[in-house]
Amino acid sequence: MDEQIRERFRHRLLRRRRELVAARQAAERGVVESREGRTAPEYEESAQADHVEFTLREFSDARRRELLLVDAALARLDAGIFGSCVECGRPIELERLEAVPYALRCADDALRDEREERGGVRRAPYTM
Ligand SMILES: [Zn+2]
Repeated sequence: MDEQIRERFRHRLLRRRRELVAARQAAERGVVESREGRTAPEYEESAQADHVEFTLREFSDARRRELLLVDAALARLDAGIFGSCVECGRPIELERLEAVPYALRCADDALRDEREERGGVRRAPYTM
């Protein structure tokens, strides 16, 4: 993979990372505002706890997971192994990376892994 393509992916990943971090900060700000806005005496402690839980859930597990994957992809870029399949070491198809810039596996291995996952076997923490 040439430098120009790597840099393009780095930009995309960094942009996505900023979006995800902004979403997390917005969720956290929501929590802070709910705390500061607790002026009404009828606002019970339990109701506040419910609200905090609800706000944090807005930064969903999916986005948290995506942030981890984006960070991992950026680390792989720095390490010079971005775009290589973690299973077989072959280059991940460029179209696949265009669709999912933090993909860890080539199309063949991703498909195989999906099948295994359906069979209840999970090999790696991040399955694309
Ligand atoms: Zn592979």
